[in-house]
Amino acid sequence: MCDAKPAGSGNVLTTPSGVPYYADNKGQRAGETKAMGPGVGETSQPPPGDQPPTDLTDCTTYTDAQWDTGCSEKFKFAHMNRKPQGGSCSEAEVACNWQKLCQNILDKVKTQFPGMTISSGFRPSSYDRELGGNGNGDHTYGKAADIQLLGAGREEGAKQLFKFIGSSGLPYSQLIYEGGWVHVAYNGSSPASVAVLVTRTGKAPYQNGGGRSGSALPPDLRWA
Ligand SMILES: [Zn+2]
Repeated sequence: MCDAKPAGSGNVLTTPSGVPYYADNKGQRAGETKAMGPGVGETSQPPPGDQPPTDLTDCTTYTDAQWDTGCSEKFKFAHMNRKPQGGSCSEAEVACNWQKLCQNILDKVKTQFPGMTISSGFRPSSYDRELGGNGNGDHTYGKAADIQLLGAGREEGAKQLFKFIGSSGLPYSQLIYEGGWVHVAYNGSSPASVAVLVTRTGKAPYQNGGGRSGSALPPDLRWA
């Protein structure tokens, strides 16, 4: 899922509307959190109060022409930050999964925390394996995002996001505190799989945080 990311500098492009994304879907790339984090994301997303996208095109017929168009109130397909090719399902399925994640989870988080940015969204299977995953994780379906909060220290920001999502009743299927960021996934087909996990290092093994109640979380991550 969210194992250590390779170091180096990535090849970051920007859509006509100003959303940064990675140009290619293979080979060595940046530590995404660093490259797409504070600074880049802050200037790339409209300030709170900007008009939401109005061109929410049907995801089931997704084509590359929709890359820079809105998929939810606050996000675009381009916010998945890699083109939805080479994953565990078709382009259109990735696009639809991403749209559901944005509409059901990320829009709400962004409303609560305008400084929230997405540091990693869709991952091609080959890239997922480079990061130590099995090439079949939620990122490869467009069902997961790693998010950060600008304006606070990285760990403090991640704690705020984690506690908000954990206590919010949002229909996430997985929520992981990774230290500097939070991994959140939406899988509408299996709400019973909800799990709250935590790691302070960004590396497995993950500790079980006590499921939806968060009862086994460390004190500074507990919300109740
Ligand atoms: Zn992740």
